[in-house]
Amino acid sequence: MTSATPDLSTLSLDGRAVIDGRRVDAADGRTFDCLSPVDGRLLTRVARGGPADIDAAVAAARAAFEDRRWAGMAPAARKRVLIRFAERILAHGDELALIETLDMGKPLRYARGVDVNSAANCIRWYGEAVDKVYDQIAPTPQTALALITREPVGVVGVIVPWNYPMIMAAWKIAPALAAGNSVVLKPSEKSPLSALRLAELALEAGIPPGVFNVVPGFGPEAGSALALHMDVDCIAFTGSTRVGKQIHVMAGQSNLKRAWTELGGKSPNIVFADCPDLDRAVEAAVGSIFFNQGESCNAPSRLFVEASIKDAFLDKALALVPRYQPANPLDRNTVMGAIVDRIQLDTVLRYIEQGQAEGARLLAGGQAVEPVPGGCYVQPTVFDGVTNDMTIAREEIFGPVLSVITFTDIADVVRQANASIYGLQAAVWTRDLNKAHGVARALRAGTVHVNQYDEDDITVPFGGFKQSGIGRDKSLHAFDKYTELKTTWIRI
Ligand code: NAD
Repeated sequence: MTSATPDLSTLSLDGRAVIDGRRVDAADGRTFDCLSPVDGRLLTRVARGGPADIDAAVAAARAAFEDRRWAGMAPAARKRVLIRFAERILAHGDELALIETLDMGKPLRYARGVDVNSAANCIRWYGEAVDKVYDQIAPTPQTALALITREPVGVVGVIVPWNYPMIMAAWKIAPALAAGNSVVLKPSEKSPLSALRLAELALEAGIPPGVFNVVPGFGPEAGSALALHMDVDCIAFTGSTRVGKQIHVMAGQSNLKRAWTELGGKSPNIVFADCPDLDRAVEAAVGSIFFNQGESCNAPSRLFVEASIKDAFLDKALALVPRYQPANPLDRNTVMGAIVDRIQLDTVLRYIEQGQAEGARLLAGGQAVEPVPGGCYVQPTVFDGVTNDMTIAREEIFGPVLSVITFTDIADVVRQANASIYGLQAAVWTRDLNKAHGVARALRAGTVHVNQYDEDDITVPFGGFKQSGIGRDKSLHAFDKYTELKTTWIRI
């Protein structure tokens, strides 16, 4: 390790579940090994939660909800606690960032600068919002008053993926808790540690025991037990489209719990010859696909470049690629870290092989590397000569692989961009305002960027069209997922 790497000796990792305000082992005592993708080391053994642990966590969450120890607090009081929670996260920012990097492989500079800060900001934002949301009185005849109020839905089950463990959790638990619900969170088995630490910090901040529980475990065991549970009122899921479809089925076949899903993407990034700043377009295209090792649902993995600028674009793009050579994520200079585990690394490598087999031209990367012995790393990879029907253009790779597709015609590129089962995000680059507006309107995606790719803010909704999911995280719209509307008629 270089001298810039942090001291790990003081870090204590606890893999036990947090249920009803206490650290507990799995009911049957089972554990699973939590390995670091940085160098393959065993970080700790984590409680392998199953149906009995989910039952215990749901019972604790139900009891907390029914006695109104949290839901019954004034919104301004919940606000104060949530702001304290956000402050605890920032106070433990270095520790949480280190946990995230060791567990998931992302560069420490981003774990601290992006993940910790975004998670804390999200929790603070919903805390600050909750005493500023008014209910309504309907415009009924004067013989009666009809109040339209929002009430917490009850016990919310949350299942999140491994790519942004803290942020994905915060996007759901923050509005759910702010609205007065109790929560049972199941983090990904690939990166469970930061969520467990968050639950401890929530308790320290004053969130009452039982209101926020975390049960680590595997999807088909703990995850499905949560999605099928008869006493869970709502399931909020982020993950793959494959599992997201199962979540809706499980919600329907159990108690018709509300089900919200944030799923996969294969985002098109369309660069026209009249793009206002080619250098910026190249920086954004390359930087956004390689950020977080390409393990982002909204990564611009399909790059559509107008034929007349393709060569110039690719020359500039390839000149940037060496910047993203993977290195030890604990080194503060590193911008591309480790892939989350060996299974995901093998998946990425299989897609790269398939791209070559189907006739795409490999311009850069394509190989696994080991900047740290025992770790899971892959080179930043660029394919040219891709067509929209190739596997690498259709399926979500979830790795640092850019597919370049050339186009000549506006209508055709919009048709190709939309020819995907996904509809999470898209971008268009042109200095022609009419073209930008027309294409942005025609793109079937939850978020469309014009002449940039990286703008992001907690104030805007995030979610997908088509098979990228149902519902929206972030912004005040997220409260819709975690509240029921109630109409109360009062005779006057
Ligand atoms: P995944 O679907 O394999 O797993 C996600 C979570 O679901 C994990 O906690 C897992 O344990 C759990 N799970 C797996 N099988 C389950 C089952 N049968 N029942 C209940 N739970 C189950 O996804 P992943 O590999 O962890 O994450 C990558 C995916 O997440 C990508 O498709 C990515 O696009 C998506 N994602 C979407 C967004 C978004 O906001 N739209 C954000 C981040 C990631």
